[in-house]
Amino acid sequence: MAKKQSAAKLHVFEPSGRRVWTVAGSGDEHWVDPVTGVCSCRAFHYNRTGCVHISAASGDDYETVRFSDEEFGGFLEGLIDEIWARDTLK
Ligand SMILES: [Zn+2]
Repeated sequence: MAKKQSAAKLHVFEPSGRRVWTVAGSGDEHWVDPVTGVCSCRAFHYNRTGCVHISAASGDDYETVRFSDEEFGGFLEGLIDEIWARDTLK
């Protein structure tokens, strides 16, 4: 089965309409803000010039996942935990 290079996901929290983008790369999931052009990956952290994840989140090919606002805190916590654990273990 062919695996896509990167998969962009738009998480929409309702009813507030808050939006969180993530892009899964090769096993890692990154938190992307295509509006301000910021990504949680290392390439972006060191270069500050954009990365494949921001490009992926800015394109038309993405999956939308809906959540309720009550899940927002837990969702962000999980995402930050994952990013934190990954970057401190390497
Ligand atoms: Zn990135």
